[in-house]
Amino acid sequence: MHTGLVDADVVVIGAGALGLSTALHCALLGRSVVVVERFRAGSQASGRAAGLFKSVQADELRTRLARGSIEKAASFADWAGVPLEVARSGSFLIARTDQHREYLRREMAQSVRWGADVREADAAQLADGVSYYRAGGGEFALWCPEDVFVEEPISLVRAYVDACQLHGAVVLENEPVAGISVTGGRVAGVETAERSIAAPAVVDAAGGWVRQVAELAGVRVPVAPVRHQLLITEPTADVQVSDPIVRVVDAAVYLRPARGGLMVGGFEADPLPVDPRKQPASFTTDDVPPDAGLLRAVADKVAGEVPVAGSTPPAEHRGGLFTMSPDGRFVVGPVVEMPGLWVASGCNGSGFSSSPSIGEALAGWIISGVAPAGMKMLSPGRFGAFPDDLLVTRGLWQYAHYYDPVPEPAQEVRPARG
Ligand SMILES: Cc1cc2nc3c(=O)[nH]c(=O)nc-3n(C[C@H](O)[C@H](O)[C@H](O)COP(=O)(O)OP(=O)(O)OC[C@H]3O[C@@H](n4cnc5c(N)ncnc54)[C@H](O)[C@@H]3O)c2cc1C
Repeated sequence: MHTGLVDADVVVIGAGALGLSTALHCALLGRSVVVVERFRAGSQASGRAAGLFKSVQADELRTRLARGSIEKAASFADWAGVPLEVARSGSFLIARTDQHREYLRREMAQSVRWGADVREADAAQLADGVSYYRAGGGEFALWCPEDVFVEEPISLVRAYVDACQLHGAVVLENEPVAGISVTGGRVAGVETAERSIAAPAVVDAAGGWVRQVAELAGVRVPVAPVRHQLLITEPTADVQVSDPIVRVVDAAVYLRPARGGLMVGGFEADPLPVDPRKQPASFTTDDVPPDAGLLRAVADKVAGEVPVAGSTPPAEHRGGLFTMSPDGRFVVGPVVEMPGLWVASGCNGSGFSSSPSIGEALAGWIISGVAPAGMKMLSPGRFGAFPDDLLVTRGLWQYAHYYDPVPEPAQEVRPARG
């Protein structure tokens, strides 16, 4: 039974960082917007993120999206009307192997070309700049003064929700979308147990559930969810609240101050794919299996230089799902075979920090019908027919090579299986 009929210009499915930012930017452009969230806003990936923003990215478009997002996060109150606290910490990128030194040199050269402020850091700067990192002497380091973090990721989600409401968007929580209505070959709205919402534009921003939500409209989204985890140590005097972010690229480990202790996260070589479509309907991020041993192994890779990571007991262990794509890039834009359906996904581990710019670009695209500069390369249809097994293989490869200089293997596209 459907009650409480609402109409909107845009319905967004999923109140994570990507959905809320898209909703907010649509509202700022004067559109009526309803966000429909299955649980509480930010309760899945976005509220569990490390909260790191990174100006050094692998291509020019992602650099622009990441740097624009840093600016938007730091000036959130000015354009969104709601305060947001951001730690303007800067970050060090560190390499301890020859191969990774070369990799960072290349990253610096291209990032500077794309406008980022990235500088080579000497040993003294590294030693003076981070209290929790004891340089071994052979490091090559880059200093990235633009980088920031949000201490508690849920604060960005709350700021988005408050800003959405301030600008007239409705955020419905604890209301799963159970159907996407299609009329005359195009999207007409969404269905929940409580109501029907008619809308000419529906955005699938359902995070780890993006594929099953798209399947409600009979279409496929090319992402593979993969587990990612981090820990926060007990508070310790060896970490200062003003310390910067550190990323040790040869170990694929990131570190930052958190709650008086140290946050330690990293990318394992044999990540775990998780397909919520094959899980019970009740599956949530809380059911993603934790692996404390794996996180301990990640921390041990830097224990020599970062004794806190190796020895301080963890106070919190958290994890969730990345949505990985075959080329490691976001999946954002219209679903060509289903007019009116849009996707904001393929986070590849950066959806939290690039959400301000992605939401802005997608909102502009939905409302004008014209792709903002460069954004077409993120279109959901760019992979053609991509079978599920290959999607997972490629997604795992992208995850395992997150900070890695190894060149990508050639993309193999096979016809989709019936
Ligand atoms: C441990 C960890 C650390 C991370 N660290 C960082 C970081 O430092 N920087 C960074 O940029 N990124 C980081 N990420 C990645 C980041 O969290 C994601 O890229 C981002 O949160 C994705 O946002 P989202 O809106 O796509 O997904 P989500 O936040 O998962 O939101 C999707 C929402 O859709 C809802 N939904 C699903 N199905 C339905 C339905 N049928 N009806 C209604 N709603 C539905 C879900 O309940 C969920 O709330 C991290 C992720 C993890 C797990």
